[in-house]
Amino acid sequence: MRPARLNPLFAPARALKGVGPRIDGLLNKLLAPRGVGGHARLIDLLWHFPVGLVDRARSPSIAESPLGQIVTLTVRVAEHRPGGGRKGRRAPYRILVEDETSAIDLVYFRADRRYLERLLPVGETRIISGRLESYDGRLQMPHPDHVSPPDTGAGVPEIEPVYPLTAGLSNTSLRKAIQAALGGLPNLPEWIDAAFLDKNGWRSFTESVKQLHAPGSADDLLPSHPARQRLAYDELLANQLALAILRQHMKRRAGRAIAAPGRLGKAIVEALPFALTGAQTRALAEIDADMADPLHMLRLLQGDVGSGKTVVALLAMATAVEAGHQAAFMAPTELLARQHLATIAHFAEPAGLRIALLTGRERGKERLAILDALQGGEIDILIGTHALFQDPIAFRDLGLAVIDEQHRFGVHQRLALQEKGLGAGAELLVMTATPIPRTLLLTSYGDLDVSRLDEKPPGRKPVTTRIIPLERLDEVIDGVARAVESGAQVYWVCPLVGESEVLDLAAAEERCADLRGQFGERVGLVHGKLAGKEKDAVMARFAAGELSVLVSTTVIEVGVDVPNASVMIIEHAERFGLAQLHQLRGRVGRGAAQSSCLLLYKQPLGEIARERLNVMRETEDGFVIAEEDLRLRGGGEVLGTRQSGLPAFRIAQLPEHQDLLAAARDDARLRLARTPRLEGESGEALRLLLYLFERDDAVKLMRAG
Ligand code: ADP
Ligand code: MG
Repeated sequence: MRPARLNPLFAPARALKGVGPRIDGLLNKLLAPRGVGGHARLIDLLWHFPVGLVDRARSPSIAESPLGQIVTLTVRVAEHRPGGGRKGRRAPYRILVEDETSAIDLVYFRADRRYLERLLPVGETRIISGRLESYDGRLQMPHPDHVSPPDTGAGVPEIEPVYPLTAGLSNTSLRKAIQAALGGLPNLPEWIDAAFLDKNGWRSFTESVKQLHAPGSADDLLPSHPARQRLAYDELLANQLALAILRQHMKRRAGRAIAAPGRLGKAIVEALPFALTGAQTRALAEIDADMADPLHMLRLLQGDVGSGKTVVALLAMATAVEAGHQAAFMAPTELLARQHLATIAHFAEPAGLRIALLTGRERGKERLAILDALQGGEIDILIGTHALFQDPIAFRDLGLAVIDEQHRFGVHQRLALQEKGLGAGAELLVMTATPIPRTLLLTSYGDLDVSRLDEKPPGRKPVTTRIIPLERLDEVIDGVARAVESGAQVYWVCPLVGESEVLDLAAAEERCADLRGQFGERVGLVHGKLAGKEKDAVMARFAAGELSVLVSTTVIEVGVDVPNASVMIIEHAERFGLAQLHQLRGRVGRGAAQSSCLLLYKQPLGEIARERLNVMRETEDGFVIAEEDLRLRGGGEVLGTRQSGLPAFRIAQLPEHQDLLAAARDDARLRLARTPRLEGESGEALRLLLYLFERDDAVKLMRAG
């Protein structure tokens, strides 16, 4: 599948000369791609760029060398003084070296005598490089970084790149492995347009990779360096091209024109206890226009928590139903599927829509009956969890699939899933509450059409946010007591302790026990380990006002709607991502009461952590928060990349390479329009690029047509 000329780059690192089992183990630890077999490959070495450099320019003489710094000298070996004494407390092995101006002791602890005699034979000249120190009035250099015969050139680089390392791996070993990998770089055809290459002053792919591993000055390490820009562009182009192919593929599927006069929608809107916001009306018009178009709809509905996405989705589904089709609505959790059922069924009643729920919990006869009705067309809207994708569920005629994405999954995955099972051929609306900055939107959704709900329903009061150290927990609990007395309801979110759900749970249980000591049975606990029915039962009691305090791990994060809840307490807020805090806070401020959010943190708070919590205090605008998150965290970890399903880049950095991203998007679009199947020479080159950045999935999609 992969073009043969790329194969050497994907060979395991251990195939390289000089990489034995020990170094291989360390390279795997440092570089092995996450989740793939655990073996570092040549390409992983090439993508591992230096982060600093050491100047090993030759010093003129020992006497002129600065103390405490790395110096590189040409010296003559004068004498070996093996350390005496008993094993274990042996004095170090010293080798006296000199030039015309002075002398230095090279100091080796735990030395191998024979090795040192070979490395530094008495009477020979050597180039040495290391840190020059003074000890007891003598100059010394403990464990030189480099010792090599003069005139070999290869031995001591004038400027040495410094790489991120792992314990046990020396910079020299890693550098040698990378040098060896560079030797395996094939020449590849150019995939970047010649004029664009020229305009930017970029060099070929191969030259750029080599250049990055041979920095001449600190400037060469910056994201703005042309070689880095070029490779970042390559990576972004591969990303954008893959997304464009996916989009092309989806759009090409039999799309249908789904349009209706809007009788059902009108009935629903007229019965709503509120008027639609301008943003909701706009989004709906965009969705309806997309559905009415014979091309396939692929639209993202982006809106902050509480911006009213559900109603928009319902109205879009009403259009599909009125046009004679069915609709499916998928939620990320069972809890949410049930809550959506309640809301949607309530609002949809005036239109007489037939709605059913299907999750992992409907089993046996009940399940069969639902499936039958679905196939028979007796159900208009099916609400369920994402698990709906996994089972082959047959609709009579699915016209629209709505996926309440929240930020749990990458859209990419979803699209791929949709491909296989449910809803192939259906119009697709993905809803997300993650306020993704525009730049990042592009990296994960590509050219997906976007509708934004950038306006909150009227009457929402701002949430007061306070930042409080955990030491003042007693005061916080007193505050909760007052709030509960006045009839308010409180969310209490427990810390994310670590990777382990067991630990999270223990913390939540402890806090719950604590609070029960004070508030008795009015405290409930909900967490991820609870069976669906139990979870729903606790939530239902909270929603009905029987519980005053709901302690939880982050399971309430997505979508829960209890308008009477007006206090949100988040323990160890410093451990949450900004996006997550924003989602959690969005749970309150939905009702008539003045709401508050208390962010409890553990001291001492780092500078970035403090700034992040301050952002939370200063704004409630999800898009502003997202941009700040991007600024504070920089590339890579943005928005908790992994949870959000946003792709992690190996070379490209955002926001630093934001301009390149836009250019790559346009480039990808243009190239695909010109050669929809990447035909011809230039198409061939782009195909290589996709393989190079391991977007094999995109190439396959293109084959599939
Ligand atoms: P989201 O899914 O975007 O987080 P929801 O759709 O759950 O938001 O809506 C949040 C709450 O706002 C719900 O109680 C919903 O009924 C209400 N709501 C939706 N649209 C409006 C509106 N235009 N005016 C007032 N309330 C609205
Ligand atoms: Mg919602």
